[in-house]
Amino acid sequence: MDLSYTPEEEEFRARLREWLGKVLPTLPPKPSPDDWPGRRAYDLGWQRMLYDAGYADVHWEGTPSVRLIFLEETEKAGAPYVGANFVGLLHAGPTIAAEGTPEQRARWLPPVLRGEEVWCQGFSEPDAGSDLAALRTRARRDGDDYVVSGSKIWTSHAEVADWCELLVRTDPEAPKHKGISWLAMPMDAPGITVRPLRTLAGSAEFAEMFLDDVRVPVANRVGDENDGWRVTMVTLSFERGTAFVGEVVACRRVLGELAVAARRNGRWDDAALRRRLGRLNAEFRALWRLTQWNVSEAEASGGVPGVGGSVFKLRYSHARQELYDAAAEVLGPDSLDLERPWMPDRLSSLSYTIAAGTSQIQRNIVGERILGLPKGR
Ligand SMILES: Cc1cc2nc3c(=O)[nH]c(=O)nc-3n(C[C@H](O)[C@H](O)[C@H](O)COP(=O)(O)OP(=O)(O)OC[C@H]3O[C@@H](n4cnc5c(N)ncnc54)[C@H](O)[C@@H]3O)c2cc1C
Repeated sequence: MDLSYTPEEEEFRARLREWLGKVLPTLPPKPSPDDWPGRRAYDLGWQRMLYDAGYADVHWEGTPSVRLIFLEETEKAGAPYVGANFVGLLHAGPTIAAEGTPEQRARWLPPVLRGEEVWCQGFSEPDAGSDLAALRTRARRDGDDYVVSGSKIWTSHAEVADWCELLVRTDPEAPKHKGISWLAMPMDAPGITVRPLRTLAGSAEFAEMFLDDVRVPVANRVGDENDGWRVTMVTLSFERGTAFVGEVVACRRVLGELAVAARRNGRWDDAALRRRLGRLNAEFRALWRLTQWNVSEAEASGGVPGVGGSVFKLRYSHARQELYDAAAEVLGPDSLDLERPWMPDRLSSLSYTIAAGTSQIQRNIVGERILGLPKGR
């Protein structure tokens, strides 16, 4: 596999770099973490700028290399990340692109690309996280609608979302993986209550959702009725396989900043710390290579990432925690001050080994599907 960039791809890089140099100074200041309407407007505004400049669909249409160049250059330039557009751009959108009908693609994809609509993910329930197929939210057919009742939890960005990729049980009698359907639920439908949950880092990043006889048109079902588990696997393969790759570039930037800070405050004299930063540097470089490999392989096999994404997710989420632990070591006693740079990220990095499937679950997937070990119960 050739992982080097062609002259055309390097030309794309140069054009993008020039454009970023021009537009980034014109951006408004970033809103505070709890200013949700502000965050929504900011993230959608950035997506609109990308759209107008012809970069909006880079995650979906670009070649793997172009996508990676985009992530490298935007991160290096300090451009905004996807933010509230995470679900729409990085896993609901790609799922609809892969599994939706032409009408569904025409209805839902352009507003995501134009920065007009935000999506959230309603998969987890109080008793269905790792064991997602244990979900109980029920959808009963009534004419042209499903009538949905139940509850969801840990729904990131629910407060500002227009749409929810929702998993429901459409056949309670079927074996648990067989009776599930994947729906696009409009978040302004009557019967939806969103109750924010506060994270350790202090922000109301996600929410509980209570669904009380919410009517969702049958036409909003992506995939066949009761075939939602297969569609869900497509969503999860995007979520674990490609959705986090841009953040590796951010981690490499933070690592560089840590080395500079350590030189400045004298911590660089500690050989153990230097070794730790060096090992992390090697780790993030290896993760970037793994990313290139995963993305190229996904493209070669029809665009849906394979189980290699679980290897990435497993190692990346731990490396990210180790990075911010190293940041605390560089800061020394100042790390107790949560106002210091990197420290809010340190708190949020703890969630990475849980979100999008815990490390134990990724290990099970790697064991069963890559190493061919016997299936756990
Ligand atoms: C920051 C964050 C954002 C999130 N955003 C969303 C979102 O937007 N939408 C959404 O639907 N969900 C979201 N989630 C939920 C997330 O997907 C679940 O938390 C995750 O899948 C784990 O499920 P659980 O919390 O029910 O833990 P449990 O499944 O109860 O697991 C508890 C512990 O048991 C272990 N365990 C469970 N089963 C096994 C097994 N078979 N083998 C070995 N160990 C096992 C787990 O690894 C874990 O350590 C988010 C979570 C976080 C932390």
